[in-house]
Amino acid sequence: MPQTQTARLMDGTGLARQIVETTSATAADILRRTGQRPCLATVLVGEDPASVTYVRMKRARCEKAGIESRHVALPASIGTEELVATITGLSQDPTVHGILLQHPVGPHIDERAAFEAIAPAKDVDGVTMHSFAAMGFGLPGFVSCTPGGIMRLLDAYDVDLTGKHAVVVGRSAILGKPAGMLLLGRDATVTYCHSRTADLTSIVRQADVLIAAVGKPRFISGADIKPGAVVIDAGYNAGNVGDVDFDSALERASLITPVPGGVGPMTIAVLLAQTVDAATRQLGLG
Ligand code: NAP
Repeated sequence: MPQTQTARLMDGTGLARQIVETTSATAADILRRTGQRPCLATVLVGEDPASVTYVRMKRARCEKAGIESRHVALPASIGTEELVATITGLSQDPTVHGILLQHPVGPHIDERAAFEAIAPAKDVDGVTMHSFAAMGFGLPGFVSCTPGGIMRLLDAYDVDLTGKHAVVVGRSAILGKPAGMLLLGRDATVTYCHSRTADLTSIVRQADVLIAAVGKPRFISGADIKPGAVVIDAGYNAGNVGDVDFDSALERASLITPVPGGVGPMTIAVLLAQTVDAATRQLGLG
């Protein structure tokens, strides 16, 4: 009878909790030593319901971790110049340590100009060209939170990346592309797949480490996963479903992230951790 493997789950919820606990302790220490709480400013343009919910969630998690949350709500009608001026003000405000501009900002705004108004030292969401280039050069800086969370998960489960073939399905600027660059920086051999990739399945089948970042429910079938592969499913689709068909993947992978409870909780944990790191540096504590 053929052996069926059952993958070990990578517990993003538990790891995120540990990161947030450490982050909260550091935030409390910063308050004790300086009288200041680390502060994350959130900037929201308009009232897109999903964005409102994301920002509310991030603010609540900040407060729970002892991080001050300062919110700037701007009307959807705001122009690029005014938005850039607001963010520049936050970049210059010594009581603000991290800045998060919620995406999307609206089609009439030059989003790149708005992101670039974030001082690199406060770019805790890793969205500026400076942060992206620092990541590419392997220099210190803040990384995009979801890829940062993926790397922390891989490390927490002692996944050896050296010489491994990592296949990243998806190449968005906030997820797929930086995830591949971080894996490359750790000596994996990286292949990117995207919507124009020819014979995607045969590439996915070669993956020792598979990162699914597509945004299509159950896009990758378990039958296409190399036996023993490490599977990171960053997808989050309607109905709490990932980009990988979890049940069939469970029989082939050695390690796999569940959806929900895998990559998702790590994203906010990394945002909080990077905010407290930013405060530590800006307050001259480390
Ligand atoms: P995105 O900007 O829409 O990018 C999707 C990527 O998938 C693109 O690079 C696209 O290729 C590729 N793609 C689309 N259809 C494809 C196909 N048929 N074959 C191969 N590649 C295909 O999405 P995203 O922001 O990176 O997010 C991806 C997923 O991750 C979503 O489910 C999202 O909800 C989830 N996500 C989760 C978190 C979290 O915190 N857990 C954070 C961010 C995103 P092209 O470049 O060629 O168009």
